[in-house]
Amino acid sequence: MIQENYFTENKDVLLHFHSLIDWEEIINEYENGFADHQEYLRSKDTNLEMAPSTHKEARDYYNEILTSYGELTGLEVSQEAAHFDKEGLSFKDGIVTHPKKMEELVMKFYSAGLVPVAIQRKYGGLGLPHIVKALLTELLYRADTSFTVAVSSVNLAAIIQDIAGEEQKQRIIPKLLRDKYSMTMGLSEPNHGSDLPSVTTKAELIDGKWYLTGTKRFQTMACGINGNPSATLCLARTGKSGGGARGLSFFFVDGKDYSIAGIEKKMGIKASATCEVVYEKSPAELLGKEGYGLTRYVMDMLNGARMSVAAEGVGVSTAAYREALKFASERIQFGKPIKELAPVKRMLDRMEREISAMRNLMLEGARTVDLYSWKSLRQKNSESPLGEEEKIKFWNGVSTVITPLGKFYNAEIANSLCYDAIQIFGGSGFCEEYDVARFYRDIRIASIWDGTSQIQVNAAIGGIVLGIYGSGVFGQYLKSELNSISASVELKQIFSDTESIVNLYKKFPTSEEKEYFSRDVVMSTCRLLNGILFEKQEAKLPTTEKESRVKIRKDYNKESLAELSAIKIRLS
Ligand SMILES: Cc1cc2nc3c(=O)[nH]c(=O)nc-3n(C[C@H](O)[C@H](O)[C@H](O)COP(=O)(O)OP(=O)(O)OC[C@H]3O[C@@H](n4cnc5c(N)ncnc54)[C@H](O)[C@@H]3O)c2cc1C
Repeated sequence: MIQENYFTENKDVLLHFHSLIDWEEIINEYENGFADHQEYLRSKDTNLEMAPSTHKEARDYYNEILTSYGELTGLEVSQEAAHFDKEGLSFKDGIVTHPKKMEELVMKFYSAGLVPVAIQRKYGGLGLPHIVKALLTELLYRADTSFTVAVSSVNLAAIIQDIAGEEQKQRIIPKLLRDKYSMTMGLSEPNHGSDLPSVTTKAELIDGKWYLTGTKRFQTMACGINGNPSATLCLARTGKSGGGARGLSFFFVDGKDYSIAGIEKKMGIKASATCEVVYEKSPAELLGKEGYGLTRYVMDMLNGARMSVAAEGVGVSTAAYREALKFASERIQFGKPIKELAPVKRMLDRMEREISAMRNLMLEGARTVDLYSWKSLRQKNSESPLGEEEKIKFWNGVSTVITPLGKFYNAEIANSLCYDAIQIFGGSGFCEEYDVARFYRDIRIASIWDGTSQIQVNAAIGGIVLGIYGSGVFGQYLKSELNSISASVELKQIFSDTESIVNLYKKFPTSEEKEYFSRDVVMSTCRLLNGILFEKQEAKLPTTEKESRVKIRKDYNKESLAELSAIKIRLS
């Protein structure tokens, strides 16, 4: 794989970091008047020592972390990815063994102070806004998907800081970080994957303590890495069976209290452990309130998971694009490099354009989560006065539409880009000697895990249909973003086509017909939103970048118009 710093050598990522992201907005939301630094001056708590005290320091701090991530991912992890894939995992007597080099590199991230990024500084994490997390997750995925999961699963503990009481947070979170735990989202069961409201794992309260019994399937990293501990965040039924979503609660279960019955043999991400987990009266700790497990907490956790998959789409596609571009520059057919052949150029141009669009969507999703989640957390912890409920509600509402859009779009498009990468390599692409075959196998999971593409469509469609015409927050957001720019003729047409598509959709008389076509409405909305994001950025572009970015935007909008015309025909 290409060996270089994946942050400092990526022009589009740098463009976002240095010119396009509104740091003023993000830093104000996240650093909250540099409260961590103030607290450090008062308490001398070493966890807060690195907390920035000015806007410049905050940006420099984020820049430094991204540069370190770029270096480790691009110079080291990426060079081992093919070996991880080839060596894979082994399972014997309930124990999963990862490649030794993978374990060493995960520990290197820990010793460089780069993990975990999603946990607040006061509990021992790095404390980073979602937008920085999105960028560094992209860098990790570009290097290797299995490794990304191994090094970042502990970030799932962020849900504990959101929902647990202070005593529980202080007791659990620092221990997870100190002992280098791996964490799992304990949702899927053999008979219930998408259908989470029907989960049957049972939680019983005996003498004031909870115990879980049941089997969970597809539990990523539930085994820990080579002897390091693990834990699950497990959805289990405290209410009656058949009681639906409201009978489900959320539990913390330490790895020593469950067993691993086996791991899956998979087509891709071969060094990522996908475990079957058995709970037999396993001691468990209730997190948050009983009955809120699926309706509130898992939904919150999935927002983060969806953004991570959006970053997976960008990262793996970037790896595929850069390898394909290199190959197409070197491979000579008919007396010239194949990148000069129009059909190959067409595939490369589409890859470049779609990666820019996916990155926009990923960063906008992260921005919307940054705009409500920190405020909301501070209010829950009584660290700031009430009074911003409207803003929290608005941005929360927007993010519950944008994060499934980002997960859906980036997963689907990334799969098609990895397909094209193989095409550009020709027969060599089909052979395991080159990295693109691995990217093609690995990216397939993006549209399945953390809720399939179909489930993302279900999650977004209500907010879109209500939003675009009614008083829904997503419609308010889209219109205000559109009004903040002087939209091109093409973008206005895309908006009007999307309105027509939503109208056609609403006319279907049955819910079955609606569901049949909901994917089309969601795809149209993704393309509209990307068009808006491209045009919104233009005012901030440095002159050196203007021409190439305007071309990308124009080509993207042209493709959108073609796709929306086809969708209109399909729906009418
Ligand atoms: C490698 C890997 C790692 C995973 N990691 C984890 C993990 O860490 N934790 C965890 O809990 N789970 C994990 N999963 C499980 C994953 O989230 C599920 O596989 C996924 O949610 C789909 O569930 P399922 O496989 O049971 O498929 P099903 O739910 O049976 O779905 C089959 C098909 O039907 C469609 N479908 C189902 N219901 C609907 C609906 N209402 N509307 C439209 N279409 C529908 C789906 O989109 C899909 O196309 C992992 C899976 C894999 C393969």
